Amino acid sequence: MQDNKYDVAIVGAGIVGLAIAYAAAKKGNKVAVFERNPRAVGASIRNFGLVWPVGQPAGELLDRAMRSREIWMEAASESGLWMKQNGSLQLAYHQDEWDVVQAFHKEAPHAGYKTKLMTPNEVSVISPAVKTDGLKGAMYSSTECTVTSRLAIPQLTQYLEQVHGVEFHFGTAVSHAEGGLLTDFFEIWRAERVYICSGADFETLYPQIFRESGITKCKLQMMRTVAQPAGWDLGPSLCAGLTLLHYNSFSFLEDQLKHTRVRYDEENPALSKYGIHVLVSQNNAGELILGDSHEYGWDVSPFDKEEINRHILGYLSTFADFPTLELTETWHGVYPKLPGKTEFVANPAHGVWIVNGLSGAGMTMSFGLAETLV
Ligand SMILES: Cc1cc2nc3c(=O)[nH]c(=O)nc-3n(C[C@H](O)[C@H](O)[C@H](O)COP(=O)(O)OP(=O)(O)OC[C@H]3O[C@@H](n4cnc5c(N)ncnc54)[C@H](O)[C@@H]3O)c2cc1C
Repeated sequence: MQDNKYDVAIVGAGIVGLAIAYAAAKKGNKVAVFERNPRAVGASIRNFGLVWPVGQPAGELLDRAMRSREIWMEAASESGLWMKQNGSLQLAYHQDEWDVVQAFHKEAPHAGYKTKLMTPNEVSVISPAVKTDGLKGAMYSSTECTVTSRLAIPQLTQYLEQVHGVEFHFGTAVSHAEGGLLTDFFEIWRAERVYICSGADFETLYPQIFRESGITKCKLQMMRTVAQPAGWDLGPSLCAGLTLLHYNSFSFLEDQLKHTRVRYDEENPALSKYGIHVLVSQNNAGELILGDSHEYGWDVSPFDKEEINRHILGYLSTFADFPTLELTETWHGVYPKLPGKTEFVANPAHGVWIVNGLSGAGMTMSFGLAETLV
């Protein structure tokens, strides 16, 4: 019989909630996680599974990403979840992209990135997928890792439960959390500290705080191929020129990036209309995860646009070729985004914290952020 009293209670069993549970349990706290669904089905299992430090700007955020990566590796080795340190390749097919990549690489060692410039021939040695025709060069970064998020999240959950004694209450939608109490209307639990990690659910707990914060939602469309044949290995995860426009790590080169932005807008305005940039990761089953797009607003459409998937695949075909592109699944995910901020942390009541808005970097940043918050 559980005694319904905890040091730390967490609402939401996505990566943010699990990261806080891990940090709190390691400090010896009695921890419980409440999740409205029978298992986590939010953004944390719908992503690429990429831990991507090279996308974070130098300084505090890169340090946090690298610390997260370290904690992922520790959790992976203790829990046995699959995690591959395969690095990433940033490909450049246009002179403006290559100029940005070289400028970034020049600063990289001082900033703490671990990058190396590669010729097309060198790229073909480590990646069987990259099209080297027209490739000006690439930047390899050794710090990126891949997990299979739809397996990693349940595995982390099981590990926290079995090894760290975290209690999980699935199928429990918390409807109120205040004054050291949580309830789902049927039961009441007590907790010294409550962390609300509710992802894109802004409507249930403290809706007025979400409404006033300026936070919004972002919908991303994704695809998954069948397993590539005969153990075919992607090598490093891949991205190309559009990604330079997406990650904050490159924003200090904004003046140079203007040329890239203008060129893509002229070539295919749909790419910026739908916020498309293309990443490719490969999971433990050899399947490729492909995406994505970015459509913002509280009113997220439940329907996916075929046109978006066509543009993603069209852009992908400009830089990579695979043994098979036969798709098995398409889906979308939604993450919260507070414009101009890398997370949304609020303290709406005594002992209650909202931790949200990690946008497109929750897999990369949650463990590091949790350590600073708990
Ligand atoms: C398509 C896609 C691709 C991405 N790719 C990457 C990537 O490769 N690398 C990376 O670093 N980041 C990536 N991200 C971002 C990352 O997935 C998110 O930042 C992260 O998953 C957010 O985690 P979360 O725990 O806040 O939300 P979620 O995973 O959505 O979890 C929130 C949980 O809270 C539960 N909940 C809500 N309200 C209640 C309540 N009242 N009571 C009980 N339970 C409740 C929900 O049911 C849900 O399970 C991607 C995101 C998407 C959508």
